[in-house]
Amino acid sequence: MTITEATRQQGAATFEPGRLFIGGEWREAADGARHDVVNPANGSVVTTVAWASDADVDDAVAAARAAFDGGAWSGLSGRERSRIMYRASQLIRDHAEQLALAESVDVGKPISFASMIDVTTAADQYEYMASLAQHLDGASRPTPLSTFAYTRREPIGVVAAITPFNFPLILSSTKIAPALAAGNTVVHKPSSDTPLSALLMADILAEAGVPAGVFNVVTGSGAVIGDRLLQHPDVDKVAFTGSTEIGRRAASLAGERLKPVTMELGGNGPNLLFADADLDQAIGTVISAFVFNTGQFCMAGPRLLVERPIYDTVLGILSQAVGGVPLGDPTNPDTVIGPMVSLKQLEKVESYVESAKAAGGTVVAGGERLDLDGGYYYKATVIAGLSNDAAAVQEEVFGPVLTVQPFDTEEEAIALANSTPYGLAAGVQTSDISRAHRVSAKLDAGIVWVNGWALLDPAVPFGGTKDSGFGRENGPEALASYTRTKSVIIALN
Ligand code: NAP
Repeated sequence: MTITEATRQQGAATFEPGRLFIGGEWREAADGARHDVVNPANGSVVTTVAWASDADVDDAVAAARAAFDGGAWSGLSGRERSRIMYRASQLIRDHAEQLALAESVDVGKPISFASMIDVTTAADQYEYMASLAQHLDGASRPTPLSTFAYTRREPIGVVAAITPFNFPLILSSTKIAPALAAGNTVVHKPSSDTPLSALLMADILAEAGVPAGVFNVVTGSGAVIGDRLLQHPDVDKVAFTGSTEIGRRAASLAGERLKPVTMELGGNGPNLLFADADLDQAIGTVISAFVFNTGQFCMAGPRLLVERPIYDTVLGILSQAVGGVPLGDPTNPDTVIGPMVSLKQLEKVESYVESAKAAGGTVVAGGERLDLDGGYYYKATVIAGLSNDAAAVQEEVFGPVLTVQPFDTEEEAIALANSTPYGLAAGVQTSDISRAHRVSAKLDAGIVWVNGWALLDPAVPFGGTKDSGFGRENGPEALASYTRTKSVIIALN
């Protein structure tokens, strides 16, 4: 029985034990190892999944290599691949309930957000890349009359897609959809904490008509099988999303073998709130920018920079408002903030808040755990009075924690915004259109939102600068990164 069938039959509560998906078949790990998947809302074990070793990675890569070389996918026209990917997009929508449930019990996401955002975005991603698959064309180039030259856009080969815990479905889709659209084959390694939706997607892609071996899933520990995957001679490209620390190591291992890589890494987004902003709207933006996904999102806005004349007012509003954001059981449709993904993540956030207090910060809201059902809950927290070099300001806390700092001039705001090692996302809240353009241009970030936050679309490139990585997901830029250009020059004798 497939996982999709099992979840369909069993409704919402449990998942059939997951297995590895290799060469179009479900199978146990070579050494029979399994791993518990824990629901962060109550600490209970949801299910177990097969736990891969290097031998399984070798098998998955071999299956992907054989599928690529056999041409059952790479040899199809873009239009034929597009048709199958449109079907996958529709199947994602058809299985929205199961996918949303998987994301919710895995990550602790409020079920309403998982359904509205994660599932929809993944379906949109497949749909968008399906449309681009039909337009993967080269170009003819002007050369002397004695030759005719043109370029071909070809798939790269076997792609290793490694994803983090926080948006399993979305972040796998942003890699797998363009990789497949371009004709590559894929070995996907999801996060140890959140592997379930990857297994559901294996079923969905197979049902859509993606041939055996084109998409493979190995669930396993990155620390154990990561090196094998990154260094495997038959892996031709690495698409990685995760922490800067692991990304640095992954990029260097892949770099030794000259594999092209895409690195989507950590973030610590500054949100610049000017006194001329529409304050009612801006406060909503500020709060959602640091509590969405319990603050566990790379493009979060955990650093609020407020123009001095409104600093006290903003702090006063935040100190009252954030406690009112519904925190609790992710299965409750009214919940906005769920638990942290794991006890480890909860303890990390807690230690950042303690270090902020020790560094002279004042907690004006939250600052403690919520004791509920044995889950990993932390209250939305606002900290003022920190100097710019405090760890909670400079580093990626990755939890529902907002630091608030005042600024006096536009130049100072930009300098503070650009002062961390990260450069992923930033926000400008202002009603002055000239300022919006001027400041956006000076922010060192891959994406800037004006009078909003986390506005994303599969058509719009997303990625980082500095320690937030390089390469872009979404848009034609993403598709291009899964192709290589071949030039053909014909002598016209
Ligand atoms: P992580 O610890 O870096 O893990 C990311 C992935 O790498 C997981 O699948 C992990 O597997 C794997 N991994 C671990 N060690 C490895 C190794 N030695 N070789 C190869 N792979 C290895 O990140 P996380 O804690 O899951 O996710 C949070 C981080 O992701 C944050 O820093 C966040 O900012 C970043 N992120 C960035 C973006 C973006 O678009 N820029 C988006 C989302 C998240 P295991 O789970 O088995 O350890």
